[in-house]
Amino acid sequence: MNESTDLGNGSILEPALRLRKGHMPDPAGQEILDQSSEQGPLLVEPPESSELEKSSDHVGSDDAAHEDEGFMGMLPLQAHHAMERMEEFVCKVWEGRWRVIPFDVLPDWLKDNDYLLHGHRPPMPSFRACFKSIFRIHTETGNIWTHLLGCVFFLCLGIFYMFRPNMSFVAPVQEKVVVGVFFLGAILCLSFSWLFHTVYCHSEGVSRLFSKLDYSGIALLIMGSFVPWLYYSFYCNPQPCFIYLIVICVLGITAIIVSQWDRFATPQYRGVRAGVFLALGLSGVIPTLHFVITEGLLKAATMGQIGWLALMACLYITGAALYAARIPERFFPGKCDIWFHSHQLFHVFVVAGAFAHFHGVSNLQEFRFTVGGGCSEDEM
Ligand SMILES: [Zn+2]
Repeated sequence: MNESTDLGNGSILEPALRLRKGHMPDPAGQEILDQSSEQGPLLVEPPESSELEKSSDHVGSDDAAHEDEGFMGMLPLQAHHAMERMEEFVCKVWEGRWRVIPFDVLPDWLKDNDYLLHGHRPPMPSFRACFKSIFRIHTETGNIWTHLLGCVFFLCLGIFYMFRPNMSFVAPVQEKVVVGVFFLGAILCLSFSWLFHTVYCHSEGVSRLFSKLDYSGIALLIMGSFVPWLYYSFYCNPQPCFIYLIVICVLGITAIIVSQWDRFATPQYRGVRAGVFLALGLSGVIPTLHFVITEGLLKAATMGQIGWLALMACLYITGAALYAARIPERFFPGKCDIWFHSHQLFHVFVVAGAFAHFHGVSNLQEFRFTVGGGCSEDEM
């Protein structure tokens, strides 16, 4: 979509990241730059001709008519130079001397959201560099920190909950296990997510592996959220509780299997991804309806904490909708590159949704504690 964009941004590329002119073949047989000048961002993979055209345009913006056609296949000498450039680039990345690059010059495997025009990290085949980039400003900074802080928050909350005195529970071991499953799901989901966003630019293989972990984490969070809720809601009715648990496990594992499919992570499948996880979460409508029908709407709203559950659903649905439709950046391309783009908002909605769920579950736990562990006729 940005084919015609006049980047004119050679200046944003640190000299260390540009290809040395002496190593650049001159496809048009023209004298472009002198031996000491540099051009184009250094990407790990030998850039495709179209990318080289664009990157050379950055520097040669005063020479807009310059054409790079004929710069197709790689000759042995060119391949050698590409290797040299890669070594040089890895060295710079290792030293933390990289700068953000525009969307247009990203390799295909890093091209995810073409509404984010600038501020992308270049491919950095070093985990050390990826982790150091957590403290730099780029398109993934907000994605990393929203879930890194969310992860620390749920870790602290989980530890606090697990160490609560046993006397505030009716069945301390059982209850701590079921609520612990929710915390485990939330912590795994948030950890996989911030890790994925951190190492996303490492290499194609690493990005693919961690994106699968990231998607699996979402399924784990949803599955984990069902456990304490089903446990408390069907406390006096264990049979449907057990059936619903099995169903959500089967659906969750199916979602994890589907997310291992390589194409699932591609930009074209953004809507499918949102749909799969939304469907998994919304499968909770069936046990909720079951609860409302058997207990009545009043009980569902008070002891069943349906209000908090509905809030959680709204937060997740809003997050997934923003994510799928890429709002707001689709209305302001290039304006939400660093802050407030859809993925970041989606992350915030996930953390808020998980917290709303936790609050509902802790209210259910409190209710169970006040009425005691027995199942009288009135509580059934
Ligand atoms: Zn994410």
